[in-house]
Amino acid sequence: MGFKEYRYSRVQLCPIDKNITDIPARIETAADYNEALKLYGEYETFREHLFTMYNLAYFRYTINTHDEFYAAEVEYYDMNLPKHDELANAVNAALAACPWRKEFEKEISPVFFKNAELKAKAFSPDIMEELAQESRLQTAYQKLMAGARIPFDGRELTFPQLTPYKESPEREIRKAAFFAEGGFLEQHAQELDGIYDELVKVRTRIAQKLGYDNFLPVGYARRTRNCYGPKEVAAFRRQVVKDIVPVNNELLRRQHERNGIKNPTAYDRTLICRHGNAAPKDTPEVIFEKGAHMYEAMGEKTGEFFRFMRDNQLFDVLSKDGKANGGYCEMLPDYKAPFVFANFNGTSGDIEVLTHECGHAFEGYLSARNYPHFAQRDITMDIAEIHSMSMEFFTYPYMKDFFTEDTDKFIYAHLSEALKFLPYGCMVDHFQEEVYLHPEMTPAQRREKWLELEKVYRPDIDWADIPHYGTGGWWQRQLHIYMDPFYYIDYCLAQSVALMFWDAAQKDRKGAWDKYMKLISYSGTLTFNDLLKAVGFRLPMEEGALSGLARSAMSFLDGIDTSKF
Ligand code: ZN
Repeated sequence: MGFKEYRYSRVQLCPIDKNITDIPARIETAADYNEALKLYGEYETFREHLFTMYNLAYFRYTINTHDEFYAAEVEYYDMNLPKHDELANAVNAALAACPWRKEFEKEISPVFFKNAELKAKAFSPDIMEELAQESRLQTAYQKLMAGARIPFDGRELTFPQLTPYKESPEREIRKAAFFAEGGFLEQHAQELDGIYDELVKVRTRIAQKLGYDNFLPVGYARRTRNCYGPKEVAAFRRQVVKDIVPVNNELLRRQHERNGIKNPTAYDRTLICRHGNAAPKDTPEVIFEKGAHMYEAMGEKTGEFFRFMRDNQLFDVLSKDGKANGGYCEMLPDYKAPFVFANFNGTSGDIEVLTHECGHAFEGYLSARNYPHFAQRDITMDIAEIHSMSMEFFTYPYMKDFFTEDTDKFIYAHLSEALKFLPYGCMVDHFQEEVYLHPEMTPAQRREKWLELEKVYRPDIDWADIPHYGTGGWWQRQLHIYMDPFYYIDYCLAQSVALMFWDAAQKDRKGAWDKYMKLISYSGTLTFNDLLKAVGFRLPMEEGALSGLARSAMSFLDGIDTSKF
């Protein structure tokens, strides 16, 4: 049975079945551990089914946003899922207070109670009003950005539609596209500032109601940071400034030189190769055939996984009318099935769907079969992105099947973009830390802060009079800053670990792959720090952890002939 035959029916959340809502109370009066474990199992079955149905509705809605039935179903869950959150907290609290806490810890994982406590720390029934307000503000931002129509090239373009122009080999086109985009943001500056200002205030109020001075501890608890705090993150950012920012500057200097650009500006940074970036040569059907071949060649498990995905129609990757933007990989727990959604557009991004999203999917496929408990597979994003970003690197030896004579160009761009991302990602994180530590800042002061941080993280950037961006407004394009505070650093930490895998594979591919399989095999049962210890890697926030990586990457890049790029 495949994706098309998976049957959907709504899981009632208002109210949730009394047999389920009674579970926390029944755990409290359970006669012994086995009875408590059985009750917890009943809750997990409910939770798995709820998320299977929710995701099924969400997938079918994003495949066809004109489908009114699934649109209404998704809205139903979005409105009512907080009722499940409340139940989940109650179940966790009952387990934490029961006499068999040690047994549960052993059964599920050592981090289970830690994570449950963090989730509880970020929530209280007293903040329902503020949470609703936060969600309204997020929706207002999303609406503004998704609804943006920027006049360009005789058309009205969305942000994603403007992107190819921002990367055009023609300098004047790039410049015009940046000016059009900045101009749109400048026109809406008041609204963008207003929404963010209110978000900072409401998040600060949430923190104060929960008993904290500022939003930082709540933001960290929301992201389930169970083994490092702001101090460690700051140490990581310092490593990036010290070891990666100079590499970034050097890569950009070479890029501009290669592209023959004398006075580089912000709109020249997006042009990686002047003759155009590497792109796949094949139709989507052929790309999938080659993908199958690649995963068969990589190993028995990867081959089995990819066959399962195709046999069960678990890819929906072709762009079509009515389909939502973007890409994702999510699980259908009842079917132990990952699902990959994307919009192929003929760029190297199409291949990265096969590598990045399949990295997520591969881990999901394995852990659904290895771990009986939902909570064991509940992974934080700093770990989840290691699975996907490392897979991108492990597939390098197969990229010649997709990019033929452009393979070096693809690999050069991919590895250098991975390095270049780190300073930017850290700046986004640093900015948010400043914002939430100083919630009294005015919108103008926030922009000054952004410009100040740019001097640290990308000191060479010249905004060349682009409206809005030159005055410190770039961050308003960064969705995560509005939607998911402190999410961005997860990508940076994961990218650093993915680079460690790349580096290890350069020296010993089999050893590195075994390590990767080992890391994946833990799924969500260890903290980020413990996972790295388990595979013998250093923590990215440790002094000197990035300097060796930066050197290896630069010497690898030096070995690639870029003269034809
Ligand atoms: Zn990802």
